Amino acid sequence: MSQPVMLITGASRGIGAATAILAARQGYRVVINYRSQAQAAAAVLAEVQAAGQDGCCIQADVAEEEQVLQLFAELDRRYGRLDVLVNNAGILETQMPLLEMSLARWQRVMAANVYGTFLCSREAIKRMALSRGGQGGAIVNVSSLAARLGAPGEYIDYAAAKGAVDTMTVGLAKECAAERIRVNGVRPGFIYTDIHASGGEPGRVDRVKTAVPMQRGGQPEEVAEAILWLASAKASYTSGSFIEVAGGR
Ligand code: NAD
Repeated sequence: MSQPVMLITGASRGIGAATAILAARQGYRVVINYRSQAQAAAAVLAEVQAAGQDGCCIQADVAEEEQVLQLFAELDRRYGRLDVLVNNAGILETQMPLLEMSLARWQRVMAANVYGTFLCSREAIKRMALSRGGQGGAIVNVSSLAARLGAPGEYIDYAAAKGAVDTMTVGLAKECAAERIRVNGVRPGFIYTDIHASGGEPGRVDRVKTAVPMQRGGQPEEVAEAILWLASAKASYTSGSFIEVAGGR
């Protein structure tokens, strides 16, 4: 049997990049989706290949339906199968109270986090579903602890978007169970990645750290471990579930 194929959205850096590299080490062929950072995506692919695995980079904005269709068409041409989808792409904008948020910002945050997860899940399920000639599979959605905390005064838009992702996770797990597709989520807490460069506030990292029982932020690799477990056959009876990777918060 040929090696399984994992598609990771937004995988040119951060948690997505760490997931791509760990996936290669665990025997997956890896499709690295990126929106604009072609060079960074190529560097992740080089690490996948250094782990002895095949992989490729495919550009697409996952919030745009036409681009998602092209991404999956390219995946079909290249591998003709999909075993795991990791809906990782997401954005966070500058922190502010809800009263100051514009509709345009709300739409951007929903598009990247929610539309992307919807569109990629729909296309993946078409290929994985037993009733459509697929072999089953797994979807792992990268949500956030913010979905549970609400992020008051900071990012209620982002928390609401991740809440929608969580609800989609629970619903899809039930809708797709008979198709032998498992759907789960991870909820990272504060993880050291570039996402915080866009939503930054002086001293935020230290303020957030004191709210974490382990008194530290997490590394992308620590989230990747949870994603890989949920994707694997070790999680064969786990669906509609969430792992919080948040230092005990
Ligand atoms: P990151 O900014 O380093 O990575 C996010 C990636 O998604 C980027 O490469 C970005 O270009 C890509 N992306 C964004 N919108 C896209 C789109 N429309 N189409 C394609 N790609 C797109 O940040 P990260 O921390 O690695 O974030 C990964 C995921 O983890 C996100 O969903 C984020 O919300 C979630 N998360 C992160 C943290 C944290 O503290 N870092 C905490 C909770 C959840």
